[in-house]
Parts: sequence; C-alpha cells; structure tokens
Amino acid sequence: MNKIINSKWFILAAYILLLLAIFLVGFVFLQNNKTLNNVLTSFFHVAENRTFDYRQFIKIVHKQPVPNKDILILAIDDASLEYLWDKYGEWPIPRDVYADVVNYIEKDKPQAVIFDLLFIKSIRAEKNADKLLTDTLNKYNNTYVGMNFDNLASDVRLPAGLPERLSVELVNHSDIDLKKKYEFANCRTILPELLNGNVNIGLTNVIRSGDGIIRKVAPLAVYKDKYYPYLSFLAGSKYVADSDIKSYTINQHRIMKVNDTEIPLTKEGEAILNWYGISGTHSVYPMYKLIRDMENPSRNIRMNFKDKIVIIGTTATALHDTKSVPVQEGVYPGVEVHATFFNNMLDNNFIKQSGVVANVLIIISVIVLTVLIVAYSASTVFAVLSTMLFILGYLFISYYVMDIFNLWIPVVMPAMFVIGAFAFTYIAKYLIKSRDFEYQYKLATIDGLTELYNHRYFQDMLRQQIELSKRYEQPFSLIIIDIDLFKNFNDTYGHQAGDAVLRQVAQTLKRNSRTTDYVCRYGGEEMSIILPNTSAEEALFNANRLNKAVAEGDFQVNSNETSKVTISVGVSTYPDNGETSEALIEYADKCLYYAKEHGRNQVGKI
Ligand code: GH3
Ligand code: MG
Ligand code: MG
Repeated sequence: MNKIINSKWFILAAYILLLLAIFLVGFVFLQNNKTLNNVLTSFFHVAENRTFDYRQFIKIVHKQPVPNKDILILAIDDASLEYLWDKYGEWPIPRDVYADVVNYIEKDKPQAVIFDLLFIKSIRAEKNADKLLTDTLNKYNNTYVGMNFDNLASDVRLPAGLPERLSVELVNHSDIDLKKKYEFANCRTILPELLNGNVNIGLTNVIRSGDGIIRKVAPLAVYKDKYYPYLSFLAGSKYVADSDIKSYTINQHRIMKVNDTEIPLTKEGEAILNWYGISGTHSVYPMYKLIRDMENPSRNIRMNFKDKIVIIGTTATALHDTKSVPVQEGVYPGVEVHATFFNNMLDNNFIKQSGVVANVLIIISVIVLTVLIVAYSASTVFAVLSTMLFILGYLFISYYVMDIFNLWIPVVMPAMFVIGAFAFTYIAKYLIKSRDFEYQYKLATIDGLTELYNHRYFQDMLRQQIELSKRYEQPFSLIIIDIDLFKNFNDTYGHQAGDAVLRQVAQTLKRNSRTTDYVCRYGGEEMSIILPNTSAEEALFNANRLNKAVAEGDFQVNSNETSKVTISVGVSTYPDNGETSEALIEYADKCLYYAKEHGRNQVGKI
C-alpha cells in the first residue's frame, strides 16, 4: 500500500481527479448560483465584445473601408441647429420646412429619403404645417420615417393599434426567438396621417450591449404578435430587392436573405454591424447648406441628390441623439448607425459569429497545440514565450478572419483555455519529470535484489559521515555482515532460494535498524550498515541485536520450507578504529574474520 501511495503515478492520477473534482464542483456551483453565473457570463461577453471592438478599430485604421458613396447623411449638425434656430426662432422647427426639403430633394430623383426622426403628435397647433409634411411624405413612394416601440407601463399610454400595412411576415426556420429580447408592449405613435398614409415606416429601436455600446441591430421586432422592420433594414431591403418585401425568411442557419444580401443573425435575432469608421466617414451634408441651396437656386455648388440614399437625422451634440459604438469614443450619431446598417446591406458584409461546433473545435485545437508546445519546450522560458507567441498568433488570425471572412471567432474563451492548458500541462510535465528523476535516482542508489542501498551509495555515505563526524566531533559506527556458509546454502537449495533468503535477511536487518541508519548491500552476501552519531558501545549493542534477530528468524526457502540462517558481524567506530573509510572497513572486516574464525553466528571483536 505504501508503495502505491508513494508512486508518482498515483499522485498524478490523484491530481487529475482533484482537478476534475474542482471543475465538477465549480460547474455544479455555477449551475446553482445564478448570480455568479451571470457575473461570469457577462464578464466573458464584455471581454469578448471588447476584442470585437479592437478588431473593428484596427480594421478601420489600417484598411480605411470605403462607405458607399450613394449613402448621404443630411445632418442637422450643431451649425445647422444654430442656423435653423436663428431662422425659425424655435426648435423643433416647423414641419413644413421638412416638407420643402423633401420636395427639393425629390426633384433630383434620389433612391430614398429616410427620416431618422419621429414625427409624433404635434404639441402646438401646427396642424397646417403637419398636413403639409404628411401630404408631402405620402406623395412619394421612396420616403421613410421612424417609429419607436417601448415598454412603458400600459397605464401611462394605451398600446396603439397599428395599421396592417406596417407589419411584415416572418418565416422562421431557425432557433431564433425574437420575442426574448425584441418584443415590445407599447408604441410611440406618430401622426395618424403618416401611419395610414403611403410613407414607409420603420423602427428606430436599438438595444445596446451590456456595456452600453451598440454592436448589434435587430432587423425585426415584435409588437402585438406581429413583426415590424427596422428603419434602415426596411429601406435597405427595398433597395437591394428593388421592390417592397412583405415576407422575410430566416433559414435554419439563422441567415436572413434579402435578394443577394445575407444577414446572419444572433440567437436573439440581431445583425452584427460591420463598421466603416468614425462619425463622418459616410458622406455628410449639413442641413443649413441645403436650406441655403434651396433659397439660392442659382448656386452652382449645390448638392445633387440624384440616386442618393438620403438619411436625415440629428448629429448635433446638443440634441443628444448619440450612441456609443465600437469604433469611436464619445459622439456617434444614431443616424450613422442607420447608414452603417444600410451600407452593410449594400456591401453584404454583416459580421457572422462562429457557431458552437466551430467554437468547440477551436478550443480543442488551441488546447492540443498548447499541450504540444509545453510538452516539447525544453525550458520554462521557452514554453512561456512560445505560448505567448501562440496567443499573439491567434489574435492575428482572429483579426484576419474577421477582416477577410467577416467571421467573428471567439478570443477570450480560447485564450483562457490556452492559459489553463499551459498551467495543467506544465504541472503534469514536471510531475512526470520528477517521477523520472526519482526513478533514475533509485536506479543509481538502490540495489535491485535486496532493496538496500548499493555499494556506491554506501561508499558515498561513508565518506560523507566521516566529513560530518569530523566537523561536529561526533563518533559514528560501521557494521559489516556476512551470511554464514552461504555457499553451502546455495548448493543445498539452489541460487533462487539463496536470493530469496538474501532478500529476507536484508529486510530483517532493515527492520531491526533505526530509520537514521543506512543499511547497504556491500556485495555478494555481505551487507554493511552506517550508524550516524553512534558510539562503539551502542554499535556493539545494535550488532548483537541484529545477530540475534537473524538467528531467531525463520527464512522461507520456498513455498513450504523454511530454514535457519546465521550471520557473522564486525563493527568499527570513527575515530577510534580509523579515520578513513578504508581503515574503518578494514577494521570491521577484521572483526568479521574473527567471528568466522571463532564459530560464526556472532559479533567478532579484536
Ligand atoms: P562463510 O562466509 O561463512 O565463510 O561461508 P560462505 O559460504 O558464505 O563463503 P563466502 O562468503 O566466501 O561465499 C559467498 C557465497 O555467497 C558465494 C556465492 O555462492 C554466494 N552468493 C554471493 N552473492 C550471492 C547472491 O547474490 N545470491 C546468491 N544466491 N548467492 C550469493
Ligand atoms: Mg562472503
Ligand atoms: Mg559468507
């Protein structure tokens, strides 16, 4: 039993079992502890999201992706806000101004005029201005306005009934559950003339990630069990399909196809946006310039809106319609999120997140590679550097995979597993190494037959004892033992039986010695014992005890026969009988010879 517990394999197995137990306990604990589970999950999400942001950021710095030139943001920026406020003496400006703007733009035949503005009920008596705007918007079939769902308590405002024409059909072959995150209880209604008119109406709802940053937009949301499209998704669909789409399909791989555009969706039904750059990367034209153009038709540097997708919205910091996005700290206008979505549809370059199977394969691969790296590293420094290089390489790969294939492969989980695999393999490697070392050490110091220390170890220890005893001025003793008439024994019972008895005699000596004594096989059937801190008197006492123990023992010759064995013993003590190993051995040998001469089975003395 002792042997098993001491074996390094046992320790290794115990270590692995312990690790597995820790994992299991951790797993069960996490299953039962929702709070911690949430904390850990959100930690991974936040960390992984940050790696997404870095990948996007590096891409826009190095690649400087070019947005579609046809997308034009007509921005109510800070300058325009000041200009309009001056001109009309109020904010919001009267809605007939927008009517004029629409008419003016439409003359150039744009692809679409999209208002990222919500024309909710007028607060003031502006019925005429409202009517002018609604009539204008309803006159064209390429105009779009925003609408917003929310979850305000229904006793504040009754859920509005929406006209049939605004909802779309969804055929969902995937495991996506839109209701989980994108079902809303209420609608912030806009002017009824718009709701029931001809203008296209899309949602402006965006839900930020846990850390407040917008990375994903759901193309569809649910309201009263019906599906409604996101504003730029609605406009983008109509643009890429060149017709109104009333029914969308999500295939079993969570991909929604609109004409040739593939929108990969998350399990919550969100599209992951691929960014083009900081605010202003899309073409922007300020509203105040447009108003001036309108007032001076003769201006030769006016903006031409032919074939443009015009998205109108506020970018002024004072209006606070700004979002946090992966590619910019601070101000990024909501209208540019719409532009980005629309542009992703045109470029067919939404980001797709790798699936569970791919992720598991990635994690298995990085574990295997890490184990190989650590296992084949000659030194710790090399192992650490190679593993760091490996992680760095993986980061590069993850960047290029996103850059080239628009694929978001996980970074945080694999990195964690690399670190875990590193630690585990490192420990395992050194456990195995130390086990090897111990085995080699044993081979070099222990005699295979008797399991006593071998001759070389005996000589080393003897020299060491002399040094120690010299320094501390302490005596120590040496006992040499020879089995009596062992040749005869071999002749009678055979060498196998001789070996067995030799082993038993060795064990008898070991059992009857102190743990601090070194019991060695000197050679053949001769054994020697070094007794540190032992005077001649004590050594003699011990020698007699050993002699008696062997003489009294019954030694198994074979399975059904025992035999008596005797030994002859010689003793020498440092420094009285010699100060070198040679002298001490010689003296003990002489005593042994004396014992042999005087009838054996005794401790010899001269
Ligand atoms: P004594 O010492 O009492 O004078 O007689 P002896 O017969 O023991 O004589 P000696 O010490 O000279 O002989 C040693 C014998 O021990 C020789 C050999 O047959 C036997 N022997 C030595 N080593 C081993 C071993 O490893 N296994 C076995 N079976 N016998 C051994
Ligand atoms: Mg001998
Ligand atoms: Mg002998």
